[in-house]
Amino acid sequence: MKYAELISKLTLEEKASLCSGLDMWHTKPVDRLGIPSVMMTDGPHGLRKQESSGANVHESVRSTCFPPSCTTASSWDVDLVNRIGDAIGKEALKERVSIVLGPGTNIKRNPLCGRNFEYFSEDPYLAGKLAASWINGVQSNKVGVSLKHYCANNQETRRMTISSVIDERALREIYLRPFEIAVRESYPATLMCAYNRLNGVFCSENSYTLTDILRKEWGFEGIVMTDWGAVNKRVDGIKAGLELEMPSSGGMNDKLIVATVKTGELDESVLDACVDRLLDLIMTSSENIAGSASYDVDAHDDLARRAAEQSAVLLKNEDAFLPFDKGEKVLVIGQLAKKSRIQGAGSSHINPNKHISFLEALDACGISYDYTDGYVIGKNKVNPSRSAKVAQMSKDYSRVIIYAGLTEDYESEGYDRTHLNLPPTQLDVIDAVTAVNPNVAVVLACGSPIAIPFKERVKSILLVYLTGQAGGMAVKNLIYGDVVPCGKLAETFPLSLTDVPSAPYFPGDHHQVQYRESVYVGYRYYQKAGVEVAYPFGYGLSYTTFDYSELQIPSQITADYRAKVSFTVTNSGKRDGAEISQVYVGKKDSKVFRPIMELKGFAKTFIKAGQSKRVEVDLDDKAFSCYSTELSNWVVEDGEYQIYVAASSVDIKLSGTLTVGGTVLSDDGLKGTWYARPTADQVPQQDFEKLYGAPMQQSPPMHKKGEFTVDDCMMDMAPTSGTVRMFLRLVSFGMRRFAMRCKKDDPGFLMMYYTIQATPLKNMAFSSQGMLSMGMAEGLAVMFNGKFFKGLGMLLKGLKKK
Ligand code: BGC
Repeated sequence: MKYAELISKLTLEEKASLCSGLDMWHTKPVDRLGIPSVMMTDGPHGLRKQESSGANVHESVRSTCFPPSCTTASSWDVDLVNRIGDAIGKEALKERVSIVLGPGTNIKRNPLCGRNFEYFSEDPYLAGKLAASWINGVQSNKVGVSLKHYCANNQETRRMTISSVIDERALREIYLRPFEIAVRESYPATLMCAYNRLNGVFCSENSYTLTDILRKEWGFEGIVMTDWGAVNKRVDGIKAGLELEMPSSGGMNDKLIVATVKTGELDESVLDACVDRLLDLIMTSSENIAGSASYDVDAHDDLARRAAEQSAVLLKNEDAFLPFDKGEKVLVIGQLAKKSRIQGAGSSHINPNKHISFLEALDACGISYDYTDGYVIGKNKVNPSRSAKVAQMSKDYSRVIIYAGLTEDYESEGYDRTHLNLPPTQLDVIDAVTAVNPNVAVVLACGSPIAIPFKERVKSILLVYLTGQAGGMAVKNLIYGDVVPCGKLAETFPLSLTDVPSAPYFPGDHHQVQYRESVYVGYRYYQKAGVEVAYPFGYGLSYTTFDYSELQIPSQITADYRAKVSFTVTNSGKRDGAEISQVYVGKKDSKVFRPIMELKGFAKTFIKAGQSKRVEVDLDDKAFSCYSTELSNWVVEDGEYQIYVAASSVDIKLSGTLTVGGTVLSDDGLKGTWYARPTADQVPQQDFEKLYGAPMQQSPPMHKKGEFTVDDCMMDMAPTSGTVRMFLRLVSFGMRRFAMRCKKDDPGFLMMYYTIQATPLKNMAFSSQGMLSMGMAEGLAVMFNGKFFKGLGMLLKGLKKK
């Protein structure tokens, strides 16, 4: 152990105390031995440093609000993402923050996940590569990160308790893979375990994922912390490889650790090893932030703008309608042009140090335009006469921009969406305007795919996602051609929600969510099942065009299963621009079920108009392998592979084959099941059980009044307990009226309120920083069980103890 001497001087109580937070954002110090406290704050698209321990996510120091991961992912630009990470690391240094809580690299399994805007992609390779670059950027400043949320946290509904039921191949190839890439390529200082359970076991005490895979297989040497309040059985967590509980649980779990060491249930050497790793993090990170630091606010704003420009995806551009000429008369419709949506809601919310809307950007550049609201943000009642007036007004213009998108209450941490639609008021105005004027460009601001029913009725669609603080200027630059769009989708836009492979099983019941579609997530499914989509993975247009030629594939791969392919890309249009080239690998005659092709490499290349560049793409040691459940390892199957060089997952430009000497696999025994030939039909339970290797467990019935324990959350207790319903009404009223002073549809309130309902009583105690003791949480359970006064007595007793 590195800190054996220091550890020998710590009392058992001090050792246990290091295993949980001091408050919301700090580790505990041990002053008498000079062990400092270090600070961590949220990211991932900026720094959210809160001076207080309050829960109001909007109260943080100002910092640069970069575009969130949903946006930067479509840049496919690892250097750009690295630079953003570097800038955030510099801002952390300035604020003396040791660990930035990000990036989130969970897979976008379903477009409804409320937190998709914080994640990169439906594809594990792209998500892993971007996460690794961001981490390398932050950590180049000697500021740590916390790679989150490990793992299988792909929805917000019941995120504290749900069990994600996933077969081993999907787990390894899809859900763990981005974490594996990030851990192996960027050595994150810390990793944050998710709230949920994986195949029945809480991620906070899952020795398979925390120790066997993370440490033994991937060589992770950092520490694992909980997501905020994600504790089930703390001692089981320590044994499984979870070092730090965040935030403070008021010392209650520290006491438990001490008690179990004393009884011998927890071996002190296990605690010592855990403390050694914690000390390593604390001592080195506090040294690293010792000096004073500053950063260039304008340079970071500039980077935020560049990131938004590089990430926008031009979905449609009929008759080269875009870019507009600066002298042309244009009508801008839509409040989002004025009150831009720059980021998602929840713990990642940044207090931007600058901000410019699209209209302000037009003003700043002296571009003349007319403007009308079109719809009112937050008001979802359709007003046909307003839309009719706007349509009438639009008739005078040969260039109309409708700025549309999801508003904050639609997508947030804490809850999922229930549909893919834009607010009805926006759809109504788009319908009305396009009925009388075909010359419309729609700018779409959202953090996740939406349905685009007006696709055929408009000339152009520019998807800008959530743009970050400088987005207004970026959108202006794209619309007026100062910048050529070059982003490509990092996720599929389905035609409808029912087309999404996980749709029938999402978000599961009150207990579990079955990932029956297995590896067939996103394009892996749409291609193999032949399901039409609105816009495919990897798709995006430009103001210029690119041609591909001269594919070169080596005749064999290296001894460690790597290969390099190269090809020529020519900018055949009239504008300079960047092209994202994608390399997919497939195996037609595989013995095991597989998608038709999978992304294994990509490159973004800037090419001047009329010029060509030779592009090289490295295929790594996993490019030809799949996870064999039979061998419990990654394995390269012997035989011929198809290599596709593509402009999108459906636009293959060049292809060839490569024969690889590998392992001869035996049949996976799944011929005749849905997996061998996925269709739009649901996956039969017996097929999933065959793949999963065990029968599905029935979800236990929800506890009824009289049966509640501290493991239950109010969402599950409310149906049978009037006291819970009344309690929730009071909480909602109190929060809106006094604590947050906001309306019912305020996104901050919605997130907090959903979170309160979905948090088991014991986890409320764990994350209350000592305000709610376990005895008080038990009192609440007794009250909700119908023994009101007995429970109240327990609550008061707990209060008195404090
Ligand atoms: C979120 C984490 C976040 C933490 C601290 C949790 O609710 O899931 O992503 O880092 O809060 O704000």
